[in-house]
Amino acid sequence: MNNKTLWILALALCSTPAWAANPFEQQLLNTLKQGVQEKVTGKPATPVEEETAIGRQIAGNLLGAAPLVKDAKLQKYVNNVGRWVANQSERPELEWHFGVIDSNDVNAFAAPGGYIFVTRGLYRLLQSEAELAGVLAHEVGHVIRQHHLKILQQSKLIDLGSQLVAKQVGGNDKVQGLIGSGAEIVSRSLDKDAEFEADRIAVVLATRAGYDSFGLPAVLQQIGHFAKNDGDVALLFKTHPHPDDRLGKLGAAMDDRFDGVKGKTLEKRLYRIK
Ligand SMILES: [Zn+2]
Repeated sequence: MNNKTLWILALALCSTPAWAANPFEQQLLNTLKQGVQEKVTGKPATPVEEETAIGRQIAGNLLGAAPLVKDAKLQKYVNNVGRWVANQSERPELEWHFGVIDSNDVNAFAAPGGYIFVTRGLYRLLQSEAELAGVLAHEVGHVIRQHHLKILQQSKLIDLGSQLVAKQVGGNDKVQGLIGSGAEIVSRSLDKDAEFEADRIAVVLATRAGYDSFGLPAVLQQIGHFAKNDGDVALLFKTHPHPDDRLGKLGAAMDDRFDGVKGKTLEKRLYRIK
């Protein structure tokens, strides 16, 4: 990514909607701005810096559409669980950020570079910390395998960004349009194999982190009970294989491998949203 593209990112961040003075949001916003400023003046970005910058702009855009739940303890708790799980992955060095966004939809999102969000609607379904770990670990799986990044690279959105600046037509609307597409891509379907892969990674990471291996399967089971036409799960069902199919694939992959593993469920430690 060249400096001109990074200026696009800087412009985009300036035009994201105003944030509430929630300490977590403020911290995240500062990190976003600081990261871009550093790179605008610095040397050419490394692939990981580029990946993180792309994720950062998409995360900013998602949060502009649906802000974080205003509960600093909740956000800190989700970051603790998420970072512990991500630390078990092959990319512990990424700057992982986790958050619960204020939406009744049942869904979760991952943006490149380690930005992961679950909705309040999904969080409310959780019965234990192991289930939270399983859900976050599925998204961690998307990040470490760069599922969304690969789509973004294929779609040449990144090149388009440089061209916009080169032609001096990079007004704010265009920039927003560009980044809007990025956010749309993150909430769009990946291929089914990528989803099944993320499920398998999730079980391994959650187990490695010391949690009961069946956290994610338990959540899938619960989501499978929603009616197909229920508005709260419409997007999730559109973008992921049906939970029953995911359970079937995951069950076959897990076989009896995890039967003797005694991980923790930690029902009481799950932070409950007020
Ligand atoms: Zn997924």
